[in-house]
Amino acid sequence: MESALQHAIPGGQLLLYLQPRASAVTGELVGFEALVRWQHPELGLVSPQRFIPLAEESHLIVEVGNWVAARVCETLPRWRSDGEQLVPVSINVSARQLKDSEFRTELDMQMHRYQINASDIAIELTESMMIGDNHEIQNELRLLGDMGLKLIIDDFGTGFSSLARLQSLSVDVLKIDQFFVRNLSAGGEGIVLCEAMTQMGKTLGLAVVAEGVETTEQLQMLQLIGCDEIQGFIASPPVPADEAMQMLGGPAFFAPMNGIRSSQVSDRYLSA
Ligand code: C2E
Ligand code: CA
Ligand code: CA
Repeated sequence: MESALQHAIPGGQLLLYLQPRASAVTGELVGFEALVRWQHPELGLVSPQRFIPLAEESHLIVEVGNWVAARVCETLPRWRSDGEQLVPVSINVSARQLKDSEFRTELDMQMHRYQINASDIAIELTESMMIGDNHEIQNELRLLGDMGLKLIIDDFGTGFSSLARLQSLSVDVLKIDQFFVRNLSAGGEGIVLCEAMTQMGKTLGLAVVAEGVETTEQLQMLQLIGCDEIQGFIASPPVPADEAMQMLGGPAFFAPMNGIRSSQVSDRYLSA
């Protein structure tokens, strides 16, 4: 599979999919996440869950990451020239891509080439990448932040990042892991943890996104506890870039919320 993957980029087998993020309050599109797909000639569409870990074992992840960054930078001017109002697109970055400056310089080059504003791109890193004292990674993250790119902490709640690290790296957005969102509908502990993470994010001045939102019940709980944005099948699955473009200026994914956000929603649910 690894040798097949080496041919994926030159063979034009990688595809750029995008998944929208919506405002939890208005239901309107507020951003996209870039998610790579591999169209294998025999295996069909291979999930990144299968091939990204493989790519991470070698320099291939750098090539895949550079490919994604280039496709995102190439896509935005096409949307702009169609007169669409752009929303930021976030790019997932693996630890190995931040061990040296290659990813950053490549992204910087593509952004200049396609005249992309820093506000149109964000970087997603998993919380586990923030742990430890890898100076190269910390330094690259700081330099990406200095370029004006927003930093999103992905899979939040599953790692053990320190609050000091969140602050020193000037993180902008926390993305609550789908694990917690899934447990929201069970009406149990999920709500306590989602609410705690949302309140913590807000106290630190960060925007809070919940991912993997599938049901109306999950959406309503997240709206009540004051989560800012949601991502998940309830709005849309990841779609090919051309389909994503049609969401710009399109209708909201769900009706605006009516009702008042309150504090300590979990108390109410747990005592009920
Ligand atoms: P992730 O960054 O946590 O991405 C979210 C995953 O959840 C995506 O899986 C997405 O399709 C899926 N998802 C979205 N909404 C829902 C929902 O409502 N319900 C459920 N059950 N799932 C939902 P996907 O696209 O298979 O990506 C898997 C992982 O692969 C990503 O997890 C990310 O860690 C990695 N990945 C994807 N593209 C890239 C990339 O370009 N670079 C790097 N380094 N990693 C990538
Ligand atoms: Ca992500
Ligand atoms: Ca995630």
